[in-house]
Amino acid sequence: MKTYTNFIAGQWLASASNKTFKVHNPAKSSELVAEFQASQLADVTSAVDAAAKAFENWSTIPAPMRGMYLAKAAGILRRRRDEAANQLTREEGKPITEARGETDRAIALLDFYAGQASLLTGQTVPSTVPNRFLYTTRSPLGPIALITPWNFPIAIPIWKAAPALICGNTIVLKPAEQAPASACLFAEILEEAGLPKGVFNLVTGGGEVGAALVNDARIRCISFTGSVEVGKKIMQQAGPRLVRIGLEMGGKNPHIVMDDADLDRAAADVVYGAFSAAGHKCTAASRAIVIDKVHDAFVEKLKARIAAFKAGDTMDPQTQLCPLLDETQMKKTLEYVAIGQQEGAKLLAGGHRLTDAPFSEGWYVSPALFTEVKPTMRIAQEEIFGPVLAVIRAKDLNEAITIANGVEFGLSAGISTTNLKTSMEFTRRIEAGVIHVNNPTAGLELQVPFGGLKNSTSGYREMGTAAIDFFSQVKTVYVDG
Ligand code: NAD
Repeated sequence: MKTYTNFIAGQWLASASNKTFKVHNPAKSSELVAEFQASQLADVTSAVDAAAKAFENWSTIPAPMRGMYLAKAAGILRRRRDEAANQLTREEGKPITEARGETDRAIALLDFYAGQASLLTGQTVPSTVPNRFLYTTRSPLGPIALITPWNFPIAIPIWKAAPALICGNTIVLKPAEQAPASACLFAEILEEAGLPKGVFNLVTGGGEVGAALVNDARIRCISFTGSVEVGKKIMQQAGPRLVRIGLEMGGKNPHIVMDDADLDRAAADVVYGAFSAAGHKCTAASRAIVIDKVHDAFVEKLKARIAAFKAGDTMDPQTQLCPLLDETQMKKTLEYVAIGQQEGAKLLAGGHRLTDAPFSEGWYVSPALFTEVKPTMRIAQEEIFGPVLAVIRAKDLNEAITIANGVEFGLSAGISTTNLKTSMEFTRRIEAGVIHVNNPTAGLELQVPFGGLKNSTSGYREMGTAAIDFFSQVKTVYVDG
């Protein structure tokens, strides 16, 4: 069993607290994955010291040279791909096929931003004054804090760190305490890539470590992904300092199924969107809004697909049904299943803990399918972040869109339809930052912006070149000859 230490100023250091915490395999709770530092304020202060010091030099290195470190890191992660994916499955619980996909995405992100480093363009703009050269240029923000969740433990730290680094910022990353091993592996990779000391720092620990980082006055930008509750706290704490804050938060994503849809394809998309990775995706479909005329036929198809959803060893590439992250997530999901039943929704399938061996050793809950769900019920309003799908009836597109928009979130939304006009109206009226037509709600490409509307996102877009706008600031230059 490995003990990871913090990575500060290019050194692997134990916490000043002398305390550690352990992470176990969600598929087999007795299996220890690794041990991590339970950091405290002194560790955070040292990490920010290192980031502030390294900023002086890193910010002056030409961006294309900064990109070369990412290109090297991509090569190292490619070499360590199986190790990274296996560790990801063991710490977070998602099936190995999904973990390999996430690792490949992380490699592609490093490659993409390595290339973008040579394209950190400004604008040249015609001036109204003769002989004036008017242009804009980008500059970094300073030491920045990245605070990340557990559900994409390698992709999210990298999709934040890579654009931040090419823009010339230095970093302190605080990964989620439930699954920090992937972020530690990323730090090892950056070290091997020869990134100058102090440019990237990592401290592990719980919410109090994140809060200490947010409160350090030298941090000029905070990029957070996690719950609305914590996002709001960060805004309250750091907002008065007028630092740049980006918050990526939850979702209650709808998938509308029209009566002209290919129902087999729609059922496959909804089941993947709702239940892959145990619903631990901010873009997971948690509401299927189905037009009355095809409701019963569609529910039959959902039931058949859910019954065929393959449970098994998380290391088996055929496995689809995986455990929830931990006991807390399992209890939360089971609580919502009970709430749905109390509210009068009909539990058609699943929603119980798997107690037979080998699943009894992990936090497995069978995919829960609810019908007769009313849009105002809690299971149709609140983010569960587990394998629970609420099917809601609608009489037509207009009612379906009204129901879809009737929640506090606006992250991802899908529609299954063969009618172009319907899909155009949906994309115009739906309140979501990511829209999928004839696709699962979960699934992103890295070269385009990602983010939501309403309480799902505050302040920015991630990935693509949008991330470069967030992690840099623009200077406008007037040069008169
Ligand atoms: P969380 O909000 O509990 O924790 C996220 C991170 O914030 C962790 O590193 C945690 O230690 C830290 N933290 C906790 N309290 C803090 C505080 N007071 N100050 C600073 N940092 C603090 O979220 P989670 O349970 O790790 O992740 C699940 C949530 O993340 C879900 O709501 C999900 O929708 C969301 N999520 C959103 C996206 C997106 O891109 N929109 C992606 C993945 C997950």
